[in-house]
Amino acid sequence: MHLFDDFREIVRQDEPLAPLLWFRLGGPAAYLARPRNREELVALVRRSREAGLPLKVLGGGSNVLVRDEGVNALVIHLESPAFSDVAVRDRSIEAGAAVPLTALISHSARAGLAGLEKFTGIPGTVGGALRGNADSRHDVIGQYVRRVTVLDPSDEVRVRERDVLNFTERGSGPDDPVILSAEFELEPDDPDAVVRRMRRIWIVKKESQPYGHQSSGYIFKDVSPELPAGMLIEQAGLKGVRFGGAEVSDRHANFIVAQPGAKASDVLHLIDQIRQRVAQHFGHELELQIQVW
Ligand SMILES: Cc1cc2nc3c(=O)[nH]c(=O)nc-3n(C[C@H](O)[C@H](O)[C@H](O)COP(=O)(O)OP(=O)(O)OC[C@H]3O[C@@H](n4cnc5c(N)ncnc54)[C@H](O)[C@@H]3O)c2cc1C
Repeated sequence: MHLFDDFREIVRQDEPLAPLLWFRLGGPAAYLARPRNREELVALVRRSREAGLPLKVLGGGSNVLVRDEGVNALVIHLESPAFSDVAVRDRSIEAGAAVPLTALISHSARAGLAGLEKFTGIPGTVGGALRGNADSRHDVIGQYVRRVTVLDPSDEVRVRERDVLNFTERGSGPDDPVILSAEFELEPDDPDAVVRRMRRIWIVKKESQPYGHQSSGYIFKDVSPELPAGMLIEQAGLKGVRFGGAEVSDRHANFIVAQPGAKASDVLHLIDQIRQRVAQHFGHELELQIQVW
């Protein structure tokens, strides 16, 4: 009997993940599930634990690289309407984890709520943005969070208030197995002014990052605010360098773009090459920002 026989309508075995990832590469998930509601989600999480199968949650796939051999896990893709509600209340906006961040930002702008427009142009979902505490140039998204609803390690739905969450820097979001939704606290402003700021930010981002290519977000963490990884990679002479079908972006050296026919192993080789060269040149060990599955 197959492990998820009683979840046939929502679980697929050996399912390709590449179409769900911004990199568009890598192997399949042993099991890919699309729960239609919270009850199904909890039941799936429980089943994977009982079977000793690792659990991974996929949002918009803009910060994940999957190895060519695939992932031996139950990958839960949150996309159903049950995880996609948006509700505006006075100065706050609540959104499900599957809501695209861009949709949340547009919603808050239309409602005359300011703050989140700083994150214009960051791909992915609310869940992914909170997990990684997405950052714009000067701000992290956690700064606008009032509370987050999660599924905790014992499968209980819990509300975590802002003061117990440690949203300090990029990557410091809640580490509960599943983020379900979040409420953001924003400032009232003129909707037109918010939209004008969104447009300005989008123009700058589009010019400086490789949108329209197969890529993910920043590959490496900055060593410090004064030593951004992209600057070190560029100064080590690596902009435009290729391995197989993977190439250091000529627009921003902390991005790797995948050319047609690229493999995940090409990206991983290029990552090793960059690390070695930056360590030789500057003595800094770059740490990964993207998640490698
Ligand atoms: C062109 C480009 C530009 C980018 N610019 C920026 C930028 O300016 N700033 C920035 O911070 N990032 C940037 N990124 C990276 C990426 O968009 C962000 O990290 C984004 O927040 C990831 O969201 P996602 O839904 O795609 O997450 P995914 O890639 O699907 O997942 C990322 C991580 O979050 C976890 N996760 C996702 N959803 C949930 C959930 N509901 N519950 C628990 N865990 C979850 C996953 O398990 C994984 O560990 C950029 C990426 C690209 C491709």
